[in-house]
Amino acid sequence: MENKKIGIVIDNDFASKNNPPYPRPIFASYENPNRIKIILNYFEKINLFEDKRLIKLSPLIIEDKIIELAHSRYYIDSIKRLSSLGSGLIGDEVFITKDTFNLAKKAIGGAIRAVESVIKNDVNQSFALIRPPGHHALREMGSGLCIFNNIANAILYLREELKYDKKIAIVDIDDHFGDGIAQYFYCNPNVLYFSVHEFDFVEGELGFPDELGEGEGLGKNINFPVPAGVSDNEFLEFFDILDPILREYQPDLIIIAAGFDMYFDDPIGNSNLTSISYFNFTERILKIADEVCEGKIAFILEGGYSLIGLPFCVHAIIKALLNEKHERLSFENLEFSNKSKREEINKIKNLLITLLMDYWSL
Ligand SMILES: [Zn+2]
Repeated sequence: MENKKIGIVIDNDFASKNNPPYPRPIFASYENPNRIKIILNYFEKINLFEDKRLIKLSPLIIEDKIIELAHSRYYIDSIKRLSSLGSGLIGDEVFITKDTFNLAKKAIGGAIRAVESVIKNDVNQSFALIRPPGHHALREMGSGLCIFNNIANAILYLREELKYDKKIAIVDIDDHFGDGIAQYFYCNPNVLYFSVHEFDFVEGELGFPDELGEGEGLGKNINFPVPAGVSDNEFLEFFDILDPILREYQPDLIIIAAGFDMYFDDPIGNSNLTSISYFNFTERILKIADEVCEGKIAFILEGGYSLIGLPFCVHAIIKALLNEKHERLSFENLEFSNKSKREEINKIKNLLITLLMDYWSL
């Protein structure tokens, strides 16, 4: 543990640029620079970076052709053109400012740095504190506050530029289904995508358990939808499926699509998690990673819009990676609905076991 190294990808632009042009409380305005600024402010206040086990990393500087690994030239040029005009809207919620193209490009570079530093053994684990998020972004279209698909682009970079052909598992704990990531790797047996998400919300039309992948990728797209209002008591039930599958799949790298919009205070998620869930999640996934892939995990920030919760949730993950303790914060000791969601979650679990039995020893 003394030699442990955790890379944190940071860049001040993420904490200052691409301010939404709308007044609050419009949905899109939640994806703003304060999300990163508040985390960095907190880390500075507690002198986190005095811990020599934490290594500050910068996003890789990339050329446009790297973005083309994941997105069409037309779409890339559209974002560039709208950014040069200074404003625009993709769909009904993806805002464009003069900074959007450069910041979204930098976010891809941040995700690449996080995965690259782990597979090259520069660090044991990494966390990319980047924005805008990426898991909804499609090859030809931004969606759900996402411009470019940071995780998909980073994986395609590993494949094309670094000739890394080993198996990768993505675990997505954002409140919403990562339809973008799912579409990139739906037929790909070398990328397993496991998403736990709230299923009766905006993205609820996709992300059902029977979307299992296609062709050689069958059984390697796994959706674990949970009901609204899930709490710390039952959130981690999905490990009953995830744990045996990861041990059987034996990935060489685990990427976490680290969204924090299941936090109880999140303005756009309807879940009731506290920082304890993110700490416990990390302990569980680290134990599996230590056993199957020498602990290689890269966390990539996705959603999460509670400016109160974000610093503590990210810190809780870092504490778990450092094998430190974490207790629920005093302001998180609230009375949530005491109606357990366990019964509904058990139904999903049993359905998934039935659906996945042909592909995994569950
Ligand atoms: Zn989300």
